[in-house]
Amino acid sequence: MEEKAKIERELVKFSKKKPGSEGDYDTTFPDYGDKEDENAAEVADYAVNLSLEENLEKSLRDTNQSLKRLAEGEYGICKYCHKPIEEKRLMARLTSSSCMSCKKTITQEV
Ligand SMILES: [Zn+2]
Repeated sequence: MEEKAKIERELVKFSKKKPGSEGDYDTTFPDYGDKEDENAAEVADYAVNLSLEENLEKSLRDTNQSLKRLAEGEYGICKYCHKPIEEKRLMARLTSSSCMSCKKTITQEV
């Protein structure tokens, strides 16, 4: 999660997120001025940013994939003791996020 935020922070420095897309960015053309050397610098920086954007987008996609895997892996894991939830309990209630013993403890506390 932290890694994803870091990459996105880097990306917004020189590019804009494409509306309605996840992890797709467009490099914005820098505007330093109208002088010849300024224009040259704009083109040079734009080229650098383009390849940087490509690399960051790739990292972002990889990070998103890992996060997705992580989310899937956490399915069936108790959110309190982080042990696998009993299969019987999962069969009864697919969205269970706590195991029987933790659930029992919580219910007794309430
Ligand atoms: Zn538990």
